[in-house]
Amino acid sequence: HSVMVRYVYDFHDGHRDMADLLGGKGANLAEMTRLGLPVPPGFTVTTDACRAYLATGTEPDGMVAEVSRHLSTVEAAAGRRLGQRDDPLLLSVRSGARFSMPGMMETVLDIGLNDDSVLGLAKVSGSERFAWDSYRRLVQMFGSTVMGVDAALFERAMAALKELRHAPDDLHLDAHDLTELVEAYKQLIHDETGEDFPQSPAEQLRRAILAVFRSWNGERARLYRWREHIPDDLGTAVTVQRMVFGNTGPDSGSGVAFTRDPATGRGGLYGDYLPNAQGEDVVAGIRNTVPLTELERLDPRSYDQLRAHMRTLELHYRDLCDIEFTIERGTLWMLQTRVGKRTAEAAFAIAAELTDEGLVSADEALARVDGHGLARLMFPRFEASAAGEPLAHGIPASPGAAVGAAVFDSAEAVRRAATGEKVVLVRQETTPDDLPGMIAAQAVLTSRGGKTSHAAVVARGMGKVCVCGAEELSVDTEARRFTTRDGVVVAEGTVVSVDGSDGAVHLGAVPLADSAVMRFLENGERSAGVVTAVARALEHADAVRRLEVRANADTPEDARRARRFGAQGIGLCRTEHMFLGERRKLVEEMILARDDTDRERALAALLPLQRQDFTEILEAMDGLPVTIRLLDPPLHEFLPDRTELAVRVAAAEHPEPHDIELLDAVNRMHEENPMLGLRGVRLGLVVPGLVAMQVRAVAEAVVARTRAGGSPHAEIMVPLVGAVEELRIERAEVERALAEVSEESGVPVRCPVGTMIELPRAALTAGRIAEEAEFFSFGTNDLTQTTWGFSRDDVEAEFFSAYLDKGIFPASPFETLDRHGVGRLVRIAVDEGRAARPGLTIGVCGEHGGDPDSVHFFHAAGLDYVSCSPFRVPVARLEAGRAAL
Ligand code: PEP
Ligand code: MG
Repeated sequence: HSVMVRYVYDFHDGHRDMADLLGGKGANLAEMTRLGLPVPPGFTVTTDACRAYLATGTEPDGMVAEVSRHLSTVEAAAGRRLGQRDDPLLLSVRSGARFSMPGMMETVLDIGLNDDSVLGLAKVSGSERFAWDSYRRLVQMFGSTVMGVDAALFERAMAALKELRHAPDDLHLDAHDLTELVEAYKQLIHDETGEDFPQSPAEQLRRAILAVFRSWNGERARLYRWREHIPDDLGTAVTVQRMVFGNTGPDSGSGVAFTRDPATGRGGLYGDYLPNAQGEDVVAGIRNTVPLTELERLDPRSYDQLRAHMRTLELHYRDLCDIEFTIERGTLWMLQTRVGKRTAEAAFAIAAELTDEGLVSADEALARVDGHGLARLMFPRFEASAAGEPLAHGIPASPGAAVGAAVFDSAEAVRRAATGEKVVLVRQETTPDDLPGMIAAQAVLTSRGGKTSHAAVVARGMGKVCVCGAEELSVDTEARRFTTRDGVVVAEGTVVSVDGSDGAVHLGAVPLADSAVMRFLENGERSAGVVTAVARALEHADAVRRLEVRANADTPEDARRARRFGAQGIGLCRTEHMFLGERRKLVEEMILARDDTDRERALAALLPLQRQDFTEILEAMDGLPVTIRLLDPPLHEFLPDRTELAVRVAAAEHPEPHDIELLDAVNRMHEENPMLGLRGVRLGLVVPGLVAMQVRAVAEAVVARTRAGGSPHAEIMVPLVGAVEELRIERAEVERALAEVSEESGVPVRCPVGTMIELPRAALTAGRIAEEAEFFSFGTNDLTQTTWGFSRDDVEAEFFSAYLDKGIFPASPFETLDRHGVGRLVRIAVDEGRAARPGLTIGVCGEHGGDPDSVHFFHAAGLDYVSCSPFRVPVARLEAGRAAL
């Protein structure tokens, strides 16, 4: 090896941009150390070492030596050695990946204690109980995490002892009890593994580091990564740090704090504090915490220091930070910081506020919000007036409104959700083992724990509704019910409504009301603070984006709404929707027509109806482009169901002649694969008069709008073209109809004629197709269907979830554009289309046009616009802006 790989970094050697190597925790501990904040000394073993270990099963060459060298530095600074008999230095060993995975990997605390050093610790700390409790924790964590003993066995041993001593909780076990418990635990380890709990501190350290590496591949860590789209091959770093103790008396404690409210973004210190406790106790939600403001009363000096440090962090990171801290006998220690997770509302509010404070630019502010968050804010909330008296109140930990049947464990949540039932997972507190149930549930409700409990942190990260710490509820998991303070019993399966925005829990299904953001988008009403923040983000996105955003709309009402939402035109008006309802009869007549005269009569009856539709839509979008697509779906979709009709004819003694005729037509037109059959341009080419009628309706609408003083910009779009020849013939017919109407009316009607690119052959021959097309619009629904050979009507098929599970794709290709396959076709078509016709306008109108990730791709591929459903228009505007940063 010519290059020395380095596997360990002292906190003094790293900085925050090294998260790939040091994990988020290690990088930020290094940063805090550099900032001069009080961080207990330590070092980080890199993700490189983890990856090497996971690949080979042994630690890489040199890692052990590097660890002991860095340990010596920490020992020298502390003036004592790891596990030193009379005054042991103790270490914590924690995971820390590039992306935060709260509670998903392992931690081992109190490394360095053994049968000797526990006595030394008892002496220097002046508390035997504390020393033995620490040893107890080490043996328990080491036994389960490193040596693989079932954690429940330790809990059972503890429960048995508590029962024997009539101790309501572990605080009531004394030093003597804990000594006994340590012995019992050690015996348990021996019985289960045939091995003794290691007394050598160096061995403890080495094995703990490796166990944390291994926990990267633990089941819940894998599940979490899959859910959060975190790559599996990153590995975790391990931070090794001098232990500080928050459980050494009333002048000690542990807490979690935010520089702003992570639910709303409001400034100020927020958090939870637990006196006389370790950090783990806070996060686990085992005891109820007090609000951080209490600390001001309990320990004003530490509180002031904490405030100052948090201000330092917020100014330095220029963002919301969250921290974990411990006060050991009146001395404040910072154990962790990171840019904190937040709700969508808080993300927008913080971005706006930090811009006002001059800490971030408008571009950075835009980069810090996203379309998923905006979509979430557009969701309805509970109707305040309809809610009535809540059953209970908890802490609003993750906003939104959710309704579902109460379930009491993760497995039940998963089971019911699989059948399509909506569920609310109710627990005393959640642990990482509850993750599958949390994913399956609409909301999570807990009776214990604060805003920083596991349930709260994880739910917020997933954008899932969460109310935690609803202490009025007593949750009985065994009996599968909870009881309110007023004695109301809610059994499993009962529908409850959970309001993550105000913490209320209601019995039954509470009706939902529009969101404030939605009201703003609909009619400009600025009723809430977050609305202003959203408006500013959208304004900036509009100012910087290159992509235009149009809407898919086929009614005047949708068109008007889309325009209010900021659509710059219609990218897809599906005319088939105008063939439904009462008009079906006319369509039927057109299909059944025995001769030209019959057919022309039916078409003539449809014409004024279509014209009226187009006139209204062009009016709603006056001055903006409206892309009208000629009829696309196979005609049998407008006829009665084949089986039903056959049964009716067969069952009748004297079947209606009309029914017989109809059945005949249906049979004639029946196709095994209608989506690959007579539809799109093919239809126009074989049904005489259809295209002429539709184009005439568009042209006459243009004339009507022009005469009314409007500014109509209709475009005619031909669907499902695979060959330039198809388009050439169809276009000639379109131009003929346009010319006829121009002539008759004396109003020149000029409509660009273009095509959809939604078949691989169209993409691959785009250069030729562009000779006949004045614009392209990618129909990525069909293009995905035909590229993958997946039926778009069957995406819910069982195998799709198996494909997602197996990681064949991270998201359905019908939701997020498959860049490698479908995306490649898009790029080919853009390149060849523009080469053949410089300046060719190109858009997309498949579902992907409103998908955040796909919008970034379309920007990069050089499209002119995306078109999506009206409700996605604001999301697309925002993401198009972010893509341009
Ligand atoms: C498409 O195929 O992407 C498209 C927009 O057309 P439709 O969904 O109507 O087939
Ligand atoms: Mg299509």
